[in-house]
Amino acid sequence: MKLVLATHNQGKVQELQAIISAALPNVELVGYDGPEPVEDGTSFLANALIKARAAHELTGLPAIADDSGLAVEILGGSPGIFTAIWAGGKDNVANRQLLLAQLRDIAAEHRAASFVCTIAMVDDQGERSFSAVWPGSIAFEERGTHGHGYDPVFIPEGFEVTAAELEPEIKNALSHRAQAVSSLIEYLASL
Ligand code: IMP
Repeated sequence: MKLVLATHNQGKVQELQAIISAALPNVELVGYDGPEPVEDGTSFLANALIKARAAHELTGLPAIADDSGLAVEILGGSPGIFTAIWAGGKDNVANRQLLLAQLRDIAAEHRAASFVCTIAMVDDQGERSFSAVWPGSIAFEERGTHGHGYDPVFIPEGFEVTAAELEPEIKNALSHRAQAVSSLIEYLASL
């Protein structure tokens, strides 16, 4: 089965291909080089669907797309769909610094947050989605060098270290993305 992943990021395609192939050797994932649609949805699901629909319409292939971000409880679920541009641009350092500044006076017990990942799949049969959260809290300062994005300020539940201090294998087994991909794989295996 051939699936198109609605991203221009070849690294994402390779990473997901490796995970899916390990479970389902007959699934081939290809990238998408069509125009990137405007992500003007108001939820992770809406934005994932916008990307998957565009790739399905252009290629005719079953298409998948993911959308992810961080939801901080005391900020009412923000940055949410604005996670990538929280400080105004796509600058991870500025994004993390702004979040830490916003929570500067908030006590440890009120710093709950979750990473969220939604994967949408669109084909001729219809649309479905797979979502997962990785609960945790926001640290008081950045720690760690692994990972990307908000990993240095996110302490997963059950740990005292940040996601950027975890070995990548551990993060990749537990994360919101890992869990959503595992639901997708379960679904693909049932086809
Ligand atoms: P995207 O959906 O991969 O574009 O990610 C949206 C935003 O969420 C970006 O700012 C990412 O840095 C952030 N994000 C998503 N997943 C993770 C993660 O696993 N670790 C750290 N940041 C993440």
